[in-house]
Amino acid sequence: MKERACIYCGTTEDLSVSDIIPDALTNAKIRNPNVCRVAHNNKFSDMFEDKIIKSMALITNELDIKSSKGKKYASYPARITIDETEYAENISSDVELFSGKRIISTEDGKRKLGPMEEIRKFKEATDKNITIVDVNQIEIEKRVTLKLDVFFSNEMHRLMAKIAYEWYCLHNNITDRLDDFDSIIDFITTGNGSDPVELISNKEVYARFEQLSDFGSHTILSYIGLDDSVNIIVSFFGIAMYNIRLLPHPIDQCKYNAVYQMVTIDAKREQFCFYSMADLYKNLKTAFRKVCDLGGMDVIAPKNMDDTSLQLQMMYVNCYKMFQNDLMCVMEPTPQVLALLEQRMLNTLQTSALTVRGLKRFVKEHKEYLNTGLGLNPNGSNKKSIFMFYILFLVGKSEGTWQGLENVNDFIKETFGTDTINVSDELSKQLLLEMLETEGYFETIKAGAVAIENWKYE
Ligand SMILES: [Zn+2]
Repeated sequence: MKERACIYCGTTEDLSVSDIIPDALTNAKIRNPNVCRVAHNNKFSDMFEDKIIKSMALITNELDIKSSKGKKYASYPARITIDETEYAENISSDVELFSGKRIISTEDGKRKLGPMEEIRKFKEATDKNITIVDVNQIEIEKRVTLKLDVFFSNEMHRLMAKIAYEWYCLHNNITDRLDDFDSIIDFITTGNGSDPVELISNKEVYARFEQLSDFGSHTILSYIGLDDSVNIIVSFFGIAMYNIRLLPHPIDQCKYNAVYQMVTIDAKREQFCFYSMADLYKNLKTAFRKVCDLGGMDVIAPKNMDDTSLQLQMMYVNCYKMFQNDLMCVMEPTPQVLALLEQRMLNTLQTSALTVRGLKRFVKEHKEYLNTGLGLNPNGSNKKSIFMFYILFLVGKSEGTWQGLENVNDFIKETFGTDTINVSDELSKQLLLEMLETEGYFETIKAGAVAIENWKYE
């Protein structure tokens, strides 16, 4: 038998480990070790991955995902209105705007904002054309443009094809290039040839996935189409879902065709791997036992209560017909699909999912500010940041009895009835007011920050 070789070109030389989903787009690594280093690992970055990573910066930033190679979170272009003037900046966090010696500019370069001592260094600066703004008292509005065309770009399609192909090979122990995959290999490596990737537009499919996927996670699964083709579905951050037609028919070397994997923003994974839908179904039937008879109706319960994949298997079974028949795939943007993507993107940006990583990042980025003792801006309108301050406030108020995220999550579930919260304007105002009206609230927030610094990662 031949030794391990690159699944794209068959070389046995200089193999490397490929991140199936690029490292900058997920905190959980899934890797394929059979990809040659230069031609089919490194070069993909320039060919298509970098463009997608850049255009997803706003999302990865909000979800606290960053490349393990880089120190900073990705930055994205934003328009910031301060005191009725609009500034254009690349930012990676809101506090960064006023930290250090940073100076920001309007698009025409005519107005600048920064610390007084830095502004005075401009030779044009005079007492007459400098105005003082107290950034802790005024409203700061941030606007970003959502660019949706990237979801239909050739680069995105190549990335989806790459994820599908490397993932399927990994789960089927394919360790060499097979001719059966000629077509998709050609598309991934050149961007030409027949494009096997389509965007799923059926809202029902998105809704079903949302029920069982963690917020901001990626899901990959395989299924066999009605025409006997092998297909992969990729749910990209839960924002866009794609169907990738991998093979016209199953092949002998690839036995696993009912495979599912979800990777979450806090690096957890859920997965199952079966030969076929029939095989999965057989397993599912034996996974439950009859508990009692309720007036002629069997009441059943899982034999292994710890098997969290059972729920996912049931979802897979229930959705199988929809995968085969009703994904409503599109190649070109339509107004309906654009509206769907925009809605999902906004939802992702406005939802606050709490992770230890995210909290620690928030504390780190606000440390300088917390030490100023200035207090919260009563006119602040950044809902996410108010919500995070509120969590710090709660942790501080617990006086050391809350020792991790479970305590926060329990409280949130009890108070709001859900795991993830879409912070509305009204709720945000209410939380801000509650803090401002509490005596010594800023000290409480600081105590919460110190506590969170000492929390352990899950
Ligand atoms: Zn290669």
